[in-house]
Order: sequence, then structure tokens, then C-alpha cells
Amino acid sequence: MRGLKIEVRGIVQGVGFRPFVYRVAREYGITGSVSNDSRGVTIHASGEGEQLYLFLNAIKNEAPPAAVVEEVNVFTEGRPSRYPSFEIAPSSADGGREVLVSPDIATCRECIAELFDPGDRRYLYPFINCTNCGPRFTIIAETPYDRPNTSMAKFTMCPDCAREYDDPSDRRFHAQPNACPACGPAVRLADRAGNTPGGDPVTRAAALLREGKIVAVKGLGGFQLACDATGDDAVAALRERKQRYSRPFAVMTATLEDAWRLCEIDEREADLLSGARRPIVLLREKEGSPISPQVAGGLAHQGIFLPYTPLHHLLVREAGIPLVMTSGNVSNEPIAIANDEALERLGDIADYFLLHDRDILVRYDDSVSRIFKGAEYPVRRARGYAPYPLRVRRRAGRTVLALGPELKNTFCALRGDLAFVSQHIGDMETADEVRHFEEALSAMRRLFSLSPEVVAHDLHPEYATTQMAPEFGLPVIGVQHHHAHVVSCMADRDLTGEVIGVAWDGTGYGQDGTVWGGEFLVADETGFRRGAHLYRYPMPGADACVHNLHRMAAGVMSGLFADPTDALERLRERIEIDDAEAESLLFQLRERVNTPMTSSAGRMFDAVAALAGVRDVALYDGQAACELEAIADGSGEYYDFLLDTSAEPWVVDTRPLFREVLVDLAAGTGAPEISAKFHAAMALAVVETCEALAEATGLDRVVLSGGVFQNELFGGWVVDGLASARLRPFVHRRVPCNDGGVSLGQAVVAAAKDRVS
Ligand code: ZN
Ligand code: ZN
Ligand code: FE
Repeated sequence: MRGLKIEVRGIVQGVGFRPFVYRVAREYGITGSVSNDSRGVTIHASGEGEQLYLFLNAIKNEAPPAAVVEEVNVFTEGRPSRYPSFEIAPSSADGGREVLVSPDIATCRECIAELFDPGDRRYLYPFINCTNCGPRFTIIAETPYDRPNTSMAKFTMCPDCAREYDDPSDRRFHAQPNACPACGPAVRLADRAGNTPGGDPVTRAAALLREGKIVAVKGLGGFQLACDATGDDAVAALRERKQRYSRPFAVMTATLEDAWRLCEIDEREADLLSGARRPIVLLREKEGSPISPQVAGGLAHQGIFLPYTPLHHLLVREAGIPLVMTSGNVSNEPIAIANDEALERLGDIADYFLLHDRDILVRYDDSVSRIFKGAEYPVRRARGYAPYPLRVRRRAGRTVLALGPELKNTFCALRGDLAFVSQHIGDMETADEVRHFEEALSAMRRLFSLSPEVVAHDLHPEYATTQMAPEFGLPVIGVQHHHAHVVSCMADRDLTGEVIGVAWDGTGYGQDGTVWGGEFLVADETGFRRGAHLYRYPMPGADACVHNLHRMAAGVMSGLFADPTDALERLRERIEIDDAEAESLLFQLRERVNTPMTSSAGRMFDAVAALAGVRDVALYDGQAACELEAIADGSGEYYDFLLDTSAEPWVVDTRPLFREVLVDLAAGTGAPEISAKFHAAMALAVVETCEALAEATGLDRVVLSGGVFQNELFGGWVVDGLASARLRPFVHRRVPCNDGGVSLGQAVVAAAKDRVS
């Protein structure tokens, strides 16, 4: 007989881990106990050597689907505990500071089977769940994750549910949101006036959707707006009422088989689609897909996701059509979560409301993800992911709160080696969005007992988060935007020490009075040197260039032609620009009024899109680049560029590139080929600059970050090119490469600087 003490760390609470251990222990004749504690699960196990070995193996390899085993520490116990059997012992209440709660988990296979089983007592019950699935972060007010601390507190379990909850051999043992039609939450359908049409709410809502109506559905992390994804009129109405004119909508299908009819899906994408997190997955649409072309808004990729709550399963199956399922908000507002809030704010958008009485306590948008180079590549991290912490290699001394950037904001608290990156908050441009930030921050501080000691922020003086920083009354550390991008990718990939960091995005505050965004940094966690950057062009009208792309094209032309009058004349041969606008551009370029210089890579994509006639007015940042990517079609040729190493930092001169674009345009070359040659040139520029930097520094690890790396075509070529140049490229895997990942980098940089100071 031997005795072991086994500590298991990771997502091991609220996911059926103890009953699992209990079952395995009985199987191998192990005696002892299992209990929750403040850091995970602790097991005392006594048994024969061989049986103990098998038991330990099962713990490591057969954990329940929702569990994530991060660490298993095994200690030999001098005196094996003498239990007569194996038991589930009460939790030890030693503070609970480090208990990690699982994110929300999609309805599991067993629950779906019961949901559609006419003989089951939960047949068609929209709130069925078990220890392996169901809501978590969206219903929790306090830790530990016990029913009285959730929005299930107001529902008292009926005797049948209570029996399941108390029985260790039942798959609903300690399932906190356990409920049934007799005792749990219920759905109802309401029209705009709050009146309830007769009949079963879900059946009725499905029928209304088939008729082309827009229905607001109370989901897991907030309301969603649903309509028939195959109906042009329904989608157009939704766009008009939501004031969302071009950003793509996500589509929910009932099953993976249904999704296959719409999009190309490989094995990894299928796993991501049908996994427990259920993000919206960006996929290539199939030719002849019945989805209305208005849904994707002209982009090559379609966002598809599968039902993740029983209510979604019932609704989408009953509707029998793919449904647009998009955040329940008007543009630039946070997603609505409360019934009355939805009726008020979505009253002009939705025709009907599918409501229920289980409160959503924290707002979570749907997450967006994709597969890139064989693995997950997150785009927006929210429901199902956040704020479950990421483990980082370098521990923080004092706890850091990083406030994140202005757009696609997330914030991040770093305590020890755990980085709690918040859910996607949105753009911090309205009072409502700032309130969403504050709500999410106070929820996170409460749930994880976080007490920040240092605050990190972007250097941009006008960002809402920068202005917020001093209000905490703590030491503040400013972190340059692109340094944060690079270190974010390092932390994401467990890298420490010096790397070559490529940070290509739309915009970021430079320390030299220019707008950065095409940066090559030689960096580590504490600092960076700007190794190289893209050639700088003027941005006439500054931020106006982000929306009026011909303005950026004018800036580029003024880099090619010394005389601004010449530059504009040449531009007007290609793009129609009215006299007043031309006058204003000329004035700005000549006098350099409100015309900063920029090395932004994103703006270069904009300029090419404008010159090639792909898009002149962008309704959101990155729209033109996405469209340019979607049409690219070429023969492997690329444009020329020049790496100027005569002074530091080096400059990647793109003027030869744009001169060739003009030659192609004059020769009547089509936009698809221009786009392909441009993508290839930009990718090659990254590869060759990194090679030169590697030679100069002896470094071979290259981290790739910034929103431009959302471009699959460009990013793919960069990764392949670096690999064939015998460098080691690293892309993001756990947080987005876009500004949604910046807070993680800010936190790690601030912690490193804090340790040094
Ligand atoms: Zn389940
Ligand atoms: Zn019940
Ligand atoms: Fe950025």
C-alpha cells in the first residue's frame, strides 16, 4: 500500500471534476478523498502501486470535457491515509483567492440528447444544463461559484433537481445552474409593447423569424438580434435599424452539417466550431451558399457559429433556416443584458423579444476566432474565453492593472503569473462604453479579489484609458502601443528575452510626434529599440484619412511627387475628387496643417485600395484592407521596395512600390492583380527587413503582432517567408493580434519595468 497527495490545478471546479475523480477511484479500488481548495482540487489516494499509477494516469488524461488540467503535482505521503472508501470531502475554506471559475460552456452532447428526448423530464426545456455544461461567468456575482452567488439564487430546486444536485454519481452533482420546468427559469415572447402573443414562445419566435421578422433573443452574455440569414429584406432591415451598414453579421446554424453546406470547413475548424467555447468562426463561404450576400458585407469570410445554449438549439432547429445572430445593440453601444434595457434600447430594432427570467450579471459579446496556420488565432475574446486567466512565464511582483487601448479595448490584471484579460469591451468612445469598462472592471476585481498596485496605460494623451489612469491613485506606467503589441505576442507564446517584433497596425502613438504603425522593434519586456519602420507619408486631415481613403492616397502621392499640385493632379487622374476637397488637400499638404506623418502599414493598404478603385470611403477601420485581401488574385509577381539602412532606424521605402502601382494602373492592370502584388511586396518587406535585423542582432525569433496580421494572405506569406529564411516566426494564439491583445502586453511590460525600478 502506498499513499499519494495529488494537487490538480486549472479549470477543475464547477466542471464535474470531483465526481470524475470519485468514479475513477472506485474503478481502481483507491481509497481516500477529493476536495476543492483555494487553488484547485486536492486528492488523497491510497492503493496498490499499479492501481495508483493507473488512477493517476486517468486523472491526467481522462478529465471531464469542460475541465482544463494545467498542472498535476504528486507528493508521496509517508503514512497513507486510512480511509475505508473514497469520498468527496467538503471544500476547505482557505480564502478562495485563487479559485478559478470556468468560462461559460456550450450545452453538452448528453444534455442535447435529453433536450430532444420526448420521454425526458426536461424535454424542450431551454435551460437544461449539467456539471459539464451551462452558464458560468455570465451568472456569477461572487466567488466561490456556488448557487447562492449566482443569478440562479432566486430559483429553489424542486425535490427531483435537488436529488440530482446532491448525488455524486449523478451528472448534475453540484451543477449550480441545475433547473427543470418545475422549478427553473422560463422563456416568454413579447412584442414591442410588451404584450405576449399566444402559443409556445420558441415555436412562435421561430415562425416569426421565418416570416422575416427581427427577434431579440436573450442569450448567454447579452441579447442578440436574430433574423433569416437567407432573406435579403430581413438582413437589409436589420442593417438599417441597427445602423450597421457594412460590418459583417455572424450566422448561426443548427448543426455542423448545416454549416458545411454554407462554408468550407476543415477538421480543425470543425473542432473549433463544435467545441465547448463556441466562438464565431471565420470561414470561407462556398459557392452557391444560400446566405444573403448582405450578411458578409463584401468580405471573403463568413462568421459561422453553432448553438451554445439550449434556447439557441431549440430556436435554430425550429426555425429550420440559418439565422443572423448579432449583438443586441445599436452601433457603438454595449450589448443589452436586462429585459427592460432590451425593450427600451432595442425597441426600434426588434419586432419581438424572446425573454427569460434568469438574469445576466456581466456583459459578454460572442467571441470571434479562426484557424490560421493550423491552430486557433483569436479575433475577439469574450464569451467562453474571458476572463479566465492566461498563465504567463514572467511573474509580476506587484499586481498590475493595464487599462488597454482606445479601440477594441480590453483591460488586463496581472497577478503573479496569472493574466486576467477582460472580455472585449469595444471602442472607448462613448459614455456607455466607458460604463461597460467600469462594470466589467469592478466585476473582475470582485470575482478574483484583485487589488491593483500599479496602473499601466497607452502613451496617447487623448485616450479615455490614459486619462483614467491617474484616477486610481496608484503609480502609473505608460507603455508605447507597439511595444505592448510585441510583448503581448511574447507573453501569448511564452517567450521571454529579446526578440525582433513586427507590429503592423492602423495607428499608435509614437514618441517622436508621428503616427506609428509599420514598426520593427528589437524588444524585450522592459524596453525596445526601433530597428526599422515603413517610409513616412503625410496624413492630410489626420484621422480623416481613416475614413476618406483618397486622403491617404493624396498623402502617398505627395511622397512621390515633390510638388503637392503635381501630386494632386496625378491623383485626380485616378480618383474623382471634387474641387473643394482638392483645395483643402492641397492646403494641408502644402502648409502641413493638421497633417501628421505616419509610418502606419494599415494606411498603406487604405491608399492602395483607394488608388485601385476598390474603396474610397471606409465605414470602419480596416474595411478597405479586408476587401483588398478578398479580391487579391495574382501570378506571384510583386512590387519593389527598398530597405534604406543608411541611418537608424532603418526605413522600408515604399515609394518604388507605389510608383509601380501607378504604372500598373496606367497600363490598365486590374485591382485583383494589383492587390496580390501589393500583398506580396508588403510580406516580402517584412521578411527581408527581419532577415537584415536578425543579421545585425543575432536574434532569430520574430513575433508578429498588430491588426494588419489579421490579414490571412499577408500574414501567411510573412510566416512562410520567415520560416524559409530560417527565422522563427511566432503569431498570436491566445489573445488577438489586434488591439484586443494590447492590454496583456501593457501589463507584462509594466510588471517588468516595475520590477526593475
Ligand atoms: Zn450538459
Ligand atoms: Zn427542478
Ligand atoms: Fe494597434
